[in-house]
Parts: sequence; C-alpha cells; structure tokens
Amino acid sequence: MPDVRIKTPNLDDIFEKWKQKASRTDHKKMEKQFGTKGAIFSLDAISAAEYVKDTLKEAAIYFAVKKTLGPTPKGKDENIVTAPKLGREQFYSFKGSGKVNKENWKEKEIVPMFESIQAVPCNSCKGKGFIENKCKTCSGTGIIKETLTVLVGEDLKKEKRPFSYPCNACYGSGNRSELCKECEGHKNLYKYENLPVPFQTVVTGLPVLHSSAQTKYEKEIGDDLQQVLDDVEGIKFSDFKELESKVEASLGYMNKNIKKTVSSARSDHKNYDKDKDTQITTPIYLFPLIQMFCETKKGSKFEIYSLGSANKFMIYSNF
Ligand SMILES: [Zn+2]
Ligand SMILES: [Zn+2]
Repeated sequence: MPDVRIKTPNLDDIFEKWKQKASRTDHKKMEKQFGTKGAIFSLDAISAAEYVKDTLKEAAIYFAVKKTLGPTPKGKDENIVTAPKLGREQFYSFKGSGKVNKENWKEKEIVPMFESIQAVPCNSCKGKGFIENKCKTCSGTGIIKETLTVLVGEDLKKEKRPFSYPCNACYGSGNRSELCKECEGHKNLYKYENLPVPFQTVVTGLPVLHSSAQTKYEKEIGDDLQQVLDDVEGIKFSDFKELESKVEASLGYMNKNIKKTVSSARSDHKNYDKDKDTQITTPIYLFPLIQMFCETKKGSKFEIYSLGSANKFMIYSNF
C-alpha cells in the first residue's frame, strides 16, 4: 500500500508565510502590533515561538458540485371549462417577460397558461347557447286553438266556433329555446393548457467544504479551492469509504471533531450524489488544517489557519 501520509506544514513556516503576507497587506499595523519603541522594526524579530499561544490540528474536506437548474420535465394537460369557471382559475403569462430563474420561483412548476386559452364551440348546442324544443304549450304549432260558444241570431242559438291565436309561450314560432346546460348559454366552452414555467438553464459550480475547526473562513476557503485547487496540496479520495479508512493515517492525527466532520461531509456528499440536479465534479480532498491562536505584544488576539500540506498550503487570518 502506498504511503498515504501527508506532511503537515511546520508551525514556523506557517507563521513565516503569514508574517510576509500580513506585512505586505498592512505593514503599519504589523509595526504597531509587534514593534518595540526605540528599536528599528524588523520582521525577523517576530517569531512563532513568542506569539503563538496554542495550536490545533484539524482537517478540512472539500469537493465541488455542479448544480444544473433547468426546465421541468415536459408536462402538458388540458382543461375544458365554462366561461365563468375560467375566471376562477389563476393564469400565468411569460410572453415577452423572459425566462424564469428557478431559484426565485415559489409557485408551481406547471401552471395554467393565459396564452393557451381557446374558445371551443359547444357541442351540445352547436354553439348557439340554447337548445330548440317543440313548444309544449302549443305542441309546436305556434297556435292556440279554442272553441268559443257563440249565440247566433235572434234565437240565440248556441254554436261552437273555432278561434285560434298565436301561442305566447313561443311567440307563435312553435319552438322554445332552452338554456344549454353544457355551456350554460355561453355558446363556447374554454380550453386551456397547464404548461411548464419557462425556466432558464443555470449551471453553477458549488464548492463544498467541511472543516473540523470552528472557522468563519469556510465559505472563503471553499471559494478559493474552487479557483486554485492546484495551489494547495491535499489527498484525493474517490469515495468516503476509502477516506474514512485512511483519514487518520493520512493526517497523522485524529480527534472527535475530525470524525464528526468526516461523517457530515459524507452524508452531504451522499445527498448531492442522489440529487438529480447536481453532479459531483471533483474527487474528495482531505486537507490538514492547522489553527494557531496568537497574541501580539499589545495584547490583541488573532488566529492563523493553514490549509494544505508542507509543500503547498494557503493561509487565512483575522489579524
Ligand atoms: Zn351549449
Ligand atoms: Zn307555443
């Protein structure tokens, strides 16, 4: 089995690298915090032995994922309703408003689309809104027939005489129009489609960093690793099973927090693996993470972190 051991950077080297960087960034502050009155300020006089009060050996685990947010799977279904029911549906429109960022979208992904509304002539009434039936009052004749008893002549002889007049129920047409129950008299039914919201396809790279040190630099470290993974040396693993079995041998140390970090990174990795929108794009990297607690001559406290091996490491500090 090849040696999986990674050499942790030496504390003096970490401190030296921090010192150079800090003096490049803010020389005045260095002078103020570490200088001695009356003496010429020199970086050489600032040593780790004097200012580093405590050190923790921790670890960080990194991998990157690619998140693809895109259109929802194709879906389409149709509804046919009466005109008043159309008003009770919530319609959406995206015409001319561009594609939608899925991350901001809180509504359903398939929605009734305003532009899809189409009038469909009612089948039951052939688009008339009513159905014509024979008038029941006049049996479809349009005429109401009566017999009048008429007294004829001096004798007042009773005679039956037919008399007819137009039916008032159908205005003499013989037909009566009844409301079509299908379209409720609106002549048309309305068809509309439930369609997917037009999402833009967004692909984002996402750094995932788990660290066993309590550091506020997790996000920054993750972002940096995404940019300059070559500038820092760690050990690559293709899966967590391998990482878990070799983590202690690789680092040369172990603690409870590192154990916890490995297991939370592992479940995170598993979730990304399962998520259909994400794809894990890198191996899993294990980095030594050294946390140094320092205090200046003036008594101000700060921390220095190193991430990586003795060959290649990056530093972070809140100095
Ligand atoms: Zn109808
Ligand atoms: Zn009639």
